[in-house]
Amino acid sequence: MSDQYVYPFSAGSREQVDLLGGKGANLAEMTQLGLPVPPGFTITTDACRYYMRYGHEPSVLADQVKRELGAVEAILGRIFGDPKNPLLVSVRSGAKVSMPGMMETVLNVGLNDETLEGLAALSHSRRFALDSYRRLLQMFGRTVLDIDAELFEAVLDDAKSAAGAASDVELSEGDLERVVASFKEIIEQESGSPFPQDPFTQLTMSIHAVFDSWNSPRAIVYRNTERIPHDLGTAVNVCSMVFGNLDDQSATGVAFTRDPATGARGVYGDFLLNAQGEDVVAGIRNTLSLPDMENLLPENYRELVGIMEKLERHYRDLCDIEFTVESGRLWMLQTRVGKRTAAAAFRIATALLDEGAITENEALMRVTGDQLSRLMFPAFDSHAERVLLARGMNASPGAATGHVAFTTADVLARAKEGTRSILVRRETNPDDLAGMITAEGVLTARGGKTSHAAVVARGLGRTCVCGVEAFTVDEAAREVRVDGEVVLRDGDLVSIDGTSGEVFLGEVPVQPSAVAAYFESGASLDDGDATSLKGLDDAEADLVTSVDRLMRIADRERALLVRANADTPEDAARARRMGAQGIGLTRTEHMFLGDRRTLVENLILAASPEEREGALAALLPLQRRDFLEMIREMDGLPMTVRLLDPPLHEFLPDLTELSVRIAKAEERGEHNEHEIKVLEAVKRLHEQNPMLGLRGVRLGLSIPGLFGMQTRAILEAEAQARAEGLNPQVEIMIPLVSSVRELREIKKEIFAVRDAVTQETGLKLTTVIGSMIELPRAALRADEIAEEAEFFSFGTNDLTQTTWGFSRDDVEAGFFFTYKEHGILLTSPFESIDQFGVGELVRIGTERGRAVNPDLHVGVCGEHGGDPSSIHFFNWLGLDYVSCSPFRVPVARLEAGRATLGVDDFVMSH
Ligand code: PEP
Ligand code: MG
Repeated sequence: MSDQYVYPFSAGSREQVDLLGGKGANLAEMTQLGLPVPPGFTITTDACRYYMRYGHEPSVLADQVKRELGAVEAILGRIFGDPKNPLLVSVRSGAKVSMPGMMETVLNVGLNDETLEGLAALSHSRRFALDSYRRLLQMFGRTVLDIDAELFEAVLDDAKSAAGAASDVELSEGDLERVVASFKEIIEQESGSPFPQDPFTQLTMSIHAVFDSWNSPRAIVYRNTERIPHDLGTAVNVCSMVFGNLDDQSATGVAFTRDPATGARGVYGDFLLNAQGEDVVAGIRNTLSLPDMENLLPENYRELVGIMEKLERHYRDLCDIEFTVESGRLWMLQTRVGKRTAAAAFRIATALLDEGAITENEALMRVTGDQLSRLMFPAFDSHAERVLLARGMNASPGAATGHVAFTTADVLARAKEGTRSILVRRETNPDDLAGMITAEGVLTARGGKTSHAAVVARGLGRTCVCGVEAFTVDEAAREVRVDGEVVLRDGDLVSIDGTSGEVFLGEVPVQPSAVAAYFESGASLDDGDATSLKGLDDAEADLVTSVDRLMRIADRERALLVRANADTPEDAARARRMGAQGIGLTRTEHMFLGDRRTLVENLILAASPEEREGALAALLPLQRRDFLEMIREMDGLPMTVRLLDPPLHEFLPDLTELSVRIAKAEERGEHNEHEIKVLEAVKRLHEQNPMLGLRGVRLGLSIPGLFGMQTRAILEAEAQARAEGLNPQVEIMIPLVSSVRELREIKKEIFAVRDAVTQETGLKLTTVIGSMIELPRAALRADEIAEEAEFFSFGTNDLTQTTWGFSRDDVEAGFFFTYKEHGILLTSPFESIDQFGVGELVRIGTERGRAVNPDLHVGVCGEHGGDPSSIHFFNWLGLDYVSCSPFRVPVARLEAGRATLGVDDFVMSH
């Protein structure tokens, strides 16, 4: 840390956001540009970090503040605390990343009983001076002294009703005199001491209040959700006051250089005559729209429009602005590259490209995968009326409406009658899969973003809100309660917004996504122009054209290939339309569910080699057909089929349920031989920790013939596809390998089958065999494994689970929230790759594998393959591909393109 904690606006620039915060850096930039910024200075984030660390400010800070204040006094010819000619300042927070409304501001610092008279004389308005004083008392009381804001509001309301005034502008000098006196009393009573009359005390206390507000509960919650590190700290901007509430030639407002909702060019914003900053955002008075300023303050309006153009040219992006007009003179109080909706982001990026303001690659950097995914889901009509019931986690985006159903059986029964359902559960389990597929959306009271409900819903592209803690889901009584009060009953209509996590009562109208329709239709505009697409209005066509254009740039730039995780021909076809360059993971266990469960049951119950072979023989043609149908969809593209992974008990009934069923039957004197045999198998296969038990390659080695049957199905399907004139590119993948010996052993079985099928068909079959790397040992022994594998696919779900020792099904419902609160984890490592731990294993595995086999093809097929920041990391590691759910493919393509252009700074410790 340097010893300089204070920088005048005239000495900084926008590059210094780390030190000066966003607001400070941009005030400095505007000062450099010669725009009318009131003089002031910024106290650095270093000072805030020092304050947080030691509990007091750096010893040199007070002197540095006084020196810079002196410089401001010299420029303006006013003196801080001078009874005749007082300088007043504002004290505002300003972190590196904008945290709207999270931290504190104090205006009019420097006013006291004496300077009040000076300000009254200077402004020729005692009323104005009193209004400014009451604002200081109110803000200081609330934010610095932590006094209940209601106490001040009540006094102001009483004064207004006593005076018959509709708004505070109508309060007279006498009214305000009384308000000021009451505010001072409140402060003395509540804080135990009178309002500090010494301006420097006011200033120091205000600066500390801004530092303290960095760690206010709401700021911490905001940083957690936005994944902003807690140790950045905030800068503090001390700026000479200009007054928008001085007279009728004064005003204050906010403006955008383009429409932040649509991206259209124009003059957008709101302002208020005779008002101070917080009045505009507080919504107490109805604001005027910016074009009205042309009539009311024509000269200032023209100057403002000129400045806005200059700022757009300079920042080469949409800027938002805060300004004040003081007695006919315009002042700029803030600017920054403005927030915008996802649709506006895409449209602005291509508009700026057309205007020649930015290059193609810069345009790509102006949009994100998160924005694209928001555009791909249908959204609730934001203008519709809606009744918010509660808020949970935005687990899987989209907008869904349906009737409340508490069981999968209800969802399925009602679907037959054509009724749409929302499956409402305390939490879901694997038995709910059918209900989740059929329902419009899933709503749970427990579990986080990687709970069963969330992961499965995302995979299915189903809308999901999970962890609505306010809800008590009583599945027996078929009702949902909040604080004991019933808010939803079976069959009630409910709407869930998986993008925001909100739950609404009744039906909220939805707008389908034009962008999703474009991707679903094969995702390429012949002439790059969507206006010819059917049913789109101009804005939608413009948006789709922008998306198409930026996707092309991303595809041109990216080094990573993007594949999809797909288990059915429909998913495979969809993945292809979305631009997938192959399948990175087919989870074959999904082919063993439904009616086929009994066939797997037979395999498990087989008492002799003959019975086992019989059971496998029954599965073979079904598997062959599955693979053939998928191969047809993926003609010419690689398709990685993973041999069976999950523990066998997943295909058997639940131990408790089955035991109860048998016990009840026995009570009735019934004896079901088959069920008793199944129960024995369930007991035999029961494991304390099945995720670390008999699964993956261990299963293949334990049940002879199982992987062989799957291999035969794959190769016969390949042979059949060849006979049909197709060009299949199948790859066989072995899950949960930890030792090369496992791989060697299982390859013997695979090669024996290959030789047999080769002989039978007379075709030379490729049989590419690769290994999943999803256990730490496999990553560490990757050099050996690479000798036996033609490709690696990192299963980052299991690798995260086993590296952290976290059970992915339990961690989010359990202690993840506590970890977040303590700042131990900002994001779930199951959502975004933990670069330093799990990521380090991916790096080591890749490096060691390629050292032995330079042609080793390396990809990722865990959930992280569709996560933007993880994609940047995998690109940086130099992997060949990522694989994600079909719906995420466009996001992955876009982010892979951005990753090659960005300057991601990953530092691995090794
Ligand atoms: C993984 O572990 O990352 C993976 C893709 O396999 P699964 O999620 O099926 O265990
Ligand atoms: Mg796995």
